[in-house]
Amino acid sequence: MQLLKDRIIQDGVGIGTEILKVDSFLNHQIDVELLDQIAQEFKRLFGDQNVNKILTIEASGIAIACITAMHFGNLPVVFAKKTSPNTMTDEFYGAEVKSFTKGTVSIARVAKKYLQKGDRVLIVDDFLAHGEAAFGMADLVRQAGGKVVGIGAVIEKQFQGGAKKLRKESYRVESLAVIKSIKDGNIEFL
Ligand code: 5GP
Repeated sequence: MQLLKDRIIQDGVGIGTEILKVDSFLNHQIDVELLDQIAQEFKRLFGDQNVNKILTIEASGIAIACITAMHFGNLPVVFAKKTSPNTMTDEFYGAEVKSFTKGTVSIARVAKKYLQKGDRVLIVDDFLAHGEAAFGMADLVRQAGGKVVGIGAVIEKQFQGGAKKLRKESYRVESLAVIKSIKDGNIEFL
């Protein structure tokens, strides 16, 4: 998606060789017009998949999932929680997710009533790096007896291998901007 790549070049900040910071339009301040274009692109890519639910993980995926859901006719959005709040009294599905950016391991949780057998789920997230978050979410859908019909990433860091691993497991992965490398602040796309 050229508009997104241009924005990454203009405003993205490469940190070392592993991390891209996009706080000015995606992760801290949000450009909703760009998000709307991103959502349209997900609709173009996955619109024929009879999606009935969109799944993401807190926090950065939520805004993306909500605008995407509007393009799919206001589908419900479910976001996996990374902590177990006191309010989460229902039974839940849980999957371990490692975070390379934070160096932590957490359990992604979704209450059982929000993921069901027969659900056709589109997973979306801001970044696809090692694939941990996506594999965790796919596992939650599997536990519920649903089907992951697609995984949409706004930005894929191809060099961290997550998309390759997911495709090897037969998931359909579509990334709107694919980064080949980050070096000395330079962001190289595929
Ligand atoms: P993965 O689980 O695929 O290794 O990493 C994806 C998750 O980690 C995303 O939910 C995203 O929030 C976070 N993440 C991974 N790499 C980056 C990055 O370069 N920049 C930002 N802002 N978040 C990242």
